[in-house]
Amino acid sequence: RLEVDGLVKSFGSQQVLSGVTLSVDPGSTTAIVGPSGSGKTTLLRLIAGFERAEAGSVTLSGRALAGGDAWVPAHHRDVGYVAQDGALFPHLTVGQNIAFGIDTSRLPKGRRATQAKVAELLEMVSLAPALAARRPHEISGGQQQRVALARALAREPELMLLDESFSALDAGLRVATRRTVAKVLHDAGITTVLVTHDQAEALSFADQVAVMRDGLLAQVDSPLEVYTRPVDRATAVFLGDAV
Ligand code: ATP
Repeated sequence: RLEVDGLVKSFGSQQVLSGVTLSVDPGSTTAIVGPSGSGKTTLLRLIAGFERAEAGSVTLSGRALAGGDAWVPAHHRDVGYVAQDGALFPHLTVGQNIAFGIDTSRLPKGRRATQAKVAELLEMVSLAPALAARRPHEISGGQQQRVALARALAREPELMLLDESFSALDAGLRVATRRTVAKVLHDAGITTVLVTHDQAEALSFADQVAVMRDGLLAQVDSPLEVYTRPVDRATAVFLGDAV
């Protein structure tokens, strides 16, 4: 279980998060939606450990990651993060990008074990083995995002954070990628928090939807509750816009 409690974060004089509290069941998927600039990415980055909050705490499976005296650096958290652009290393092949994820994990190392694991991860995200030899610019945007997911999965994280990972894709590919990703994460029992600009996606895909506004979660509920009983008019309008 992921527990986020009272997170406060400012950049200079601007308070971006004003006390965010969120609880995510093990193995479930929570979608964070909200207007641009409302603090969604900042929340993910705090959970990942790329930023430190001024107040509040992050706990994963009972282990304090941040808050009070606790501070676990990002690379020691059992957390995968896939950024908006996938952020693959452009000079490495697809296989090397994924192997980079493996090398930082507790998996057995060595060339053959690594190659076998790369092949397994490519298959998990429905990519052909032949793609391993290509560089990121030689594959499509959708394929790049699947590679980024494979790289994050290589570490076998307990928690996966996806930041608008499907936004660069066209609608058909997005649906296909979303299904693949959902299945992979669900089958692996990985708890998932994703940020999306696609409200319809959030409502169809998630176990729980968190509506962010001005640095606060205006509503955290099941997709059905959020859609049929939005907490206030602004939330109704926001969700209604795209559904
Ligand atoms: P979007 O949907 O457009 O990605 P968001 O909801 O993810 O937006 P954030 O990226 O979390 O919002 O940004 C929230 C606010 O914090 C914005 O006003 C942004 O300019 C500011 N901000 C984010 N990161 C930094 C930073 N490193 N330094 C200064 N300001 C920042």
